Amino acid sequence: MKAPARTNLLDLDRASLEQYFERAGHKPFRARQMLKWIYHQGIVDFGAMTDLSKFQRAWLNETAEVRIPEVVTRLESRDGTTKWVVRAANGNCVETVLIPDRGRNTLCVSSQVGCILDCTFCSTGKQGFNGNLSTGEIVGQVLLADAFLQVRGESVSNVVLMGMGEPLLNFAAAIPATNIMMDDLAFGISKRRVTISTAGVAPAIYEMAKVTDVSLAVSLHAPNDELRDQLVPLNKKYPLAELLDACNHYVEGLGERRNLTMEYTLIRGVNDRIAHARELANLLRDVRCKINLIPFNPFPDSGFERPDEPSIRAFQTYLLNAGYATMLRTTRGEDINAACGQLVGQVQDRTRRQERHRTRIECVEKSDVEEARVS
Ligand code: SAH
Repeated sequence: MKAPARTNLLDLDRASLEQYFERAGHKPFRARQMLKWIYHQGIVDFGAMTDLSKFQRAWLNETAEVRIPEVVTRLESRDGTTKWVVRAANGNCVETVLIPDRGRNTLCVSSQVGCILDCTFCSTGKQGFNGNLSTGEIVGQVLLADAFLQVRGESVSNVVLMGMGEPLLNFAAAIPATNIMMDDLAFGISKRRVTISTAGVAPAIYEMAKVTDVSLAVSLHAPNDELRDQLVPLNKKYPLAELLDACNHYVEGLGERRNLTMEYTLIRGVNDRIAHARELANLLRDVRCKINLIPFNPFPDSGFERPDEPSIRAFQTYLLNAGYATMLRTTRGEDINAACGQLVGQVQDRTRRQERHRTRIECVEKSDVEEARVS
């Protein structure tokens, strides 16, 4: 008979870990001890957890494990950016990127194997989709980076769920993962420094408001529905008005001093004109947000180009003058394909999108989100 699968304790945030202990007849405070062993002490051998009884350690050895994802390769960029290729289930791989910048260590983690959304300018989408990562596989990416940084006496200071995948289409794993990142007994990263980024799954933003106050970034990329329909096909399902209502609802729950981030990838001749900046400034007039501009990062056969420097600066200046805090994200890790939208991993595609992209057949019109739901 096959032994029952062990529970990976990295899959459980504090509330679930308390339930796990309680269901087996142990006191919930054991969960808190366990979190400290794993995340503060870096100890994953139950036998070494000296404040647990022999009986509890034996029970854990039988039913549980702490499974950190396997690293396939690690690449280092000339600019100090580090990328890990990490093994996920079924022979798939995802990518994680560490971006050190003036004392900050920002980690960009993946939430899914590939992505179902197929935004036209993102190479992850061209890989197709294979499935969700578990909470443990998301959290494991932070553990790996933390272990790497520990040698220098540093740790991960910021986490963005901006790697491969759409975190809000993997809600059940992404939210507990961010809980663990923000939990003082685990990574203890401030909620201002843990960010979920979404292409705009409006109903899931309302669900988020009920259970978390993690920071939220929205990949906007266009100031009107017509253009956004083309760049982010999910917009056909949740158009701008609906998305911005959801954003306003979420930001109200964050308290006065916190804002959303609107991400806007600047693509030459597509969305980078001053007329677009003007329309964007009008669109966001009633939304509490700052704006993050990302110059387009090229990848083979994308069909898009990065705007020249003066156009990028002019776009930023327009928004600054219109009163928006507007950051220009510098491109990092380009030489190791680690920049925004360049993460591809190794995806056993279940959507036939890789094939379609290779043969350059135009992407399907029907909403791929429906595909995600049935698969
Ligand atoms: N699905 C989520 C998480 C991915 S975040 C989301 O859409 O927000 C990745 C960010 O990089 C998104 O803002 C995405 O739109 C942006 N991006 C994708 N491809 C890019 C490219 N080629 N150049 C620059 N930014 C890109």
